[in-house]
Amino acid sequence: MAVIPAFMNYDTDSVPDAVKRAVEFVTGGDPDGARAALGSIDYSDLISGRRAALKSRRVRLTRQKIWGERPAAKAMTLPRVQKAYSRQPVPISMMLSIFERDHFTCRYSHCRKRTLYVPVLRALSKLLPDALPYQSNWLPIDEHILYWTYGTSLEHRVSFPQGGTSEPENLITACYQCNDIKNMISGTDLGWEVEAERNGDWDGLNSYLCRLQHLGLSGSKNCVTSRRW
Ligand SMILES: [Zn+2]
Repeated sequence: MAVIPAFMNYDTDSVPDAVKRAVEFVTGGDPDGARAALGSIDYSDLISGRRAALKSRRVRLTRQKIWGERPAAKAMTLPRVQKAYSRQPVPISMMLSIFERDHFTCRYSHCRKRTLYVPVLRALSKLLPDALPYQSNWLPIDEHILYWTYGTSLEHRVSFPQGGTSEPENLITACYQCNDIKNMISGTDLGWEVEAERNGDWDGLNSYLCRLQHLGLSGSKNCVTSRRW
């Protein structure tokens, strides 16, 4: 049976639009308007979704403890065994091409959420640390709820341990929430389906990234606009 979280109806989701307004305010020189736009978001549903996901993770960890799935301490002294798979890093240009192909929208059919490109959220956090705080070391679950719920992430349809590769046909865009829930309850057939590619005009607010980074003087290393890889 499919395990599908109780997501909100993302066809009428106004959160990405509120963040877009915040970005437009801040790039237009109105940080108070940006704070008001971020403050207009009802975060209660997002927070309850994260609580439910964390509860799933606790249940899984508890089972591991009871069933002894973790390696015994003495196993740590055995010679290291070569892993049967290697995780290939995906270049940022390829990652962006996947996000653009999918219009920065979560490809899981139960979700279809318009996501927010994480470098854009970070640039916004740098400009408005009071309204959108974040950690300097990337701990998504501890970040402001927008990061975990709406952050854009790259998902492997077939995971590395199962023989998946980093070829484009195996890569999809997923919201961080879907990605993380899938990781939390790995080993279970979630029954999640991937929707076919379709047209759209959402860009995860990536088109604002250079302006935001320029305002925050945070450098331009993530300010990649190329559509080719
Ligand atoms: Zn999703």
